[in-house]
Amino acid sequence: MQTTEQAIKGQTEVVWAKCPLIISGPCSAETEEQVVATAQRLAATGMVDMLRAGIWKPRTKPGMFEGVGAKGLSWLQQAKKLTGLPTTIEVATAKQVQDALTFDVDVLWIGARTTVNPFSVQEVADALRGVDVPVMIKNPINPDLELWAGAVERVARAGVKKIGLIHRGFSSYGNTEYRNAPMWHLAIDMKLKHPGMPFINDPSHICGRRDTLLDTMQKAIDLDYDGLMIESHMDPDNAWSDAKQQVTPERLAEMLNSIIWRREDVNSEEYHAALERLRQQINQLDEELIQMLGRRMKIAEQIGEYKKENNITILQTSRWNEVIERATARGDKVGLSKEFITRYFDAVHMESINHQKKVIDG
Ligand code: PEP
Ligand code: MN
Repeated sequence: MQTTEQAIKGQTEVVWAKCPLIISGPCSAETEEQVVATAQRLAATGMVDMLRAGIWKPRTKPGMFEGVGAKGLSWLQQAKKLTGLPTTIEVATAKQVQDALTFDVDVLWIGARTTVNPFSVQEVADALRGVDVPVMIKNPINPDLELWAGAVERVARAGVKKIGLIHRGFSSYGNTEYRNAPMWHLAIDMKLKHPGMPFINDPSHICGRRDTLLDTMQKAIDLDYDGLMIESHMDPDNAWSDAKQQVTPERLAEMLNSIIWRREDVNSEEYHAALERLRQQINQLDEELIQMLGRRMKIAEQIGEYKKENNITILQTSRWNEVIERATARGDKVGLSKEFITRYFDAVHMESINHQKKVIDG
């Protein structure tokens, strides 16, 4: 006979492997009634796999609501008992890890403000030694993938087998559209470097507001994320933290229902053949681009020879402005954005300068 504890453990394994994995619940646990009622309404949608709630809240300024603390853990236990939903909370210290495990929290996560601090990550990792609990690691608040990867490594070295990643966006100065800029390219880079780990998007902390949540959720699904963590509350406007970004459980279900769930792959031969033909064309064009860039650099080197003979500087601003202006105008005609052309030509220019410098120094 299986013990209840083994049964719950088995259930967490199933939930952990689920894709898409949908995690939802309030930013913060506030009262027992709020945690239980939100959990029950989430469970009633039939679309949520795991209940989240913040017990200890890392707030920017002192004096703000900093979470109810350990007393909220039994509320989560109660919510799990009534709904069957496994639970997940943020932990930032060894004591918090111990308290969470004492109250049977099923999955732990490391928050963005903790991932930035190697001392704290190490403390949490050490407290996890010998414990078989899945851990999700949010990206650090600053856009530094090494720091994020470093936290993953610390937790992995402590012997944690199930590690997930949560992309919650990056803090950037003067950004208005997002609360935390998604910088999708960085997140995708992280995902590609950690292929075996569930990669979860947190649109709530990226958007910071309700009205743009759905777009970000869809974008994450289009980019083949493995799950979503979305904040929900039984009375969002009166939430004690992150009120603007939370939605009711029913609104969450509505949003999940309106997402177009794209698949990474399908089994149709026709589709694969068509895709293969187009990919061959792309490979061919990439090959030509590389060959041409190589030829372009050879010409730049020849110019370098002339500059060397005549003692002329490598960087000539007016010439470069002319190149960029022509390229952006031409690019516009074939549907290439000014931003892309500028980034692309800046990279080409840097490479060109390096080639010329070699000629001049050599
Ligand atoms: C949260 O999930 O409520 C939270 C504090 O998130 P983050 O660590 O991403 O700021
Ligand atoms: Mn929050």
